[in-house]
Amino acid sequence: MNSAATSAIPTRTRIDACPGALQTHPAADGGLARVRVSGGSLRAGQLRALAAAARELGNGSLELTSRGNVQLRGLAVGTETELGDRLAAAGLLPSATHERVRNVLASGLSGRTAGGHVDVRPWAAALDAGLCADASLAGLPGRYLATLDDGRGDVAGLGGDVGLLALSPTSVALLLAGRDSGLRVDPAGAVVLALAATRAFLAERDAQGTGAWRLAELTDGREQVTARLSGQRGHCGRPVGVPAPPVNGPVGALPQLDGRTALAALVPLGVLSAAQAELLAGLAPEVELTPWRTVVVPDLTEDTVDDAAVDLHRSGMVFDEASPWRLVTTCAGRPGCAKSLADVRADAAAAVVGGTLPAGGARQHWVGCERGCGRPHGAAVDVVATPAGYRIGRD
Ligand code: SF4
Repeated sequence: MNSAATSAIPTRTRIDACPGALQTHPAADGGLARVRVSGGSLRAGQLRALAAAARELGNGSLELTSRGNVQLRGLAVGTETELGDRLAAAGLLPSATHERVRNVLASGLSGRTAGGHVDVRPWAAALDAGLCADASLAGLPGRYLATLDDGRGDVAGLGGDVGLLALSPTSVALLLAGRDSGLRVDPAGAVVLALAATRAFLAERDAQGTGAWRLAELTDGREQVTARLSGQRGHCGRPVGVPAPPVNGPVGALPQLDGRTALAALVPLGVLSAAQAELLAGLAPEVELTPWRTVVVPDLTEDTVDDAAVDLHRSGMVFDEASPWRLVTTCAGRPGCAKSLADVRADAAAAVVGGTLPAGGARQHWVGCERGCGRPHGAAVDVVATPAGYRIGRD
C-alpha cells in the first residue's frame, strides 16, 4: 500500500516535462535532448551519428544517464528538427510519438556472459516494438521505466514501473513498482504480460484521475494493476524478494560464454566525448550502455581485446575496479543548470585527479545545489555546493 504522503502528491497539476529527442529541454547551456536507447544496445552507426550530432549541433559530448540513455547538451535554438532527422535516419527514433516512453533497461551482457537464466535481448526488442505499436501507450509518462532482468539481479532492483525477472529458464516473475507481483509467466509470454501490465498502469492512472508519473505513486498501484491483469496470461507463485542492484557495474575484460571477451569501461562522470564515441564505434558492430555509466564492447576476439583496451584507456576510460572515478557521480551543475552554484563536474574531476576526494573517499554524489538531483543508489555522501563552499552531507 502506498503511503499517505505518496498518494497526497498533487500529481494532477504536474506537467510532464521529461525531455526527449524531440521535446528538448531549454537548459542554461542550450537545448538538452535525451535519446532513449531501449535495452542499452547501440549499433556502431548509431554511435557515430550521435557523436556527429554532439560535435556539429551540441557541445561535443554525450552524457550517459542512469537509465542507459544518452543526452546531448548545448543544442542551439532551431537545431531540433535537424537532430530529429539525424536520429531518425540512424534508427534512434522509431516512433516520434513514443520517443520519451521507450525507457527499457535490460541486463547487461545478457546472453553473452554467465549469470542469467535467459537471454533478454529479444525481450528488449519485442517490448520496444510493442510499446511503439500501441498508440495508447504514447500517453505513458516520460518517467515510465521497464526493467528486464535475466536473473543476474543487476536491473530488477532499479525501480521499474514494470519489470520482468527470470527466476529460472522456464519461469519469469512480473515486477510492479520494483516488487514481485506474484504473477508468473513462461519466457515466451513474458513481454506480452509486461505490455499488459503497462496498459493496466495507464488504465489505473486514468481511473484514479491522477497525472502520476510512476506506478508507485498510485494508490494501491501494485494491487490494482495486478487485479487488472487477472485472466491475462500467467499464473501465481510464491512472492520472491527482488535483488538489490549493484552499486557499480563490472569493468575490465569479461569472458563470454562463446570464448570471446567483452570489455567494460567506466566513462568518468558519464561524459563521453565525440572522439571516444567514434573510437568505440570502430571497435565493434554494437556496444551496450549500462545504468552505471559504463560502456561494454562485446564479442572481441583474443587478438583484438588488448589493443582495444589500450586505446580506450588512453582515451580516458577506466578499467580499474579500485579507481576513485568509480566512487564519484555528479549532477549537471554549471554551465548546464542555472540553479547550480558550481561547476561540480570540474570540481569533482579535480578532486579525483588530485587525490583530494572529501569524506575519506566515501562513495559520493556531487551536486550544484540543495535540490540534490540524480543521487544514485549506493551514494554514501552528498557533496553539495553552497554559497560558502562545498558541504558534506551524509545519509
Ligand atoms: S542538483 Fe541543483 S544544480 Fe544540480 S542539476 Fe539539480 S537543480 Fe541543477
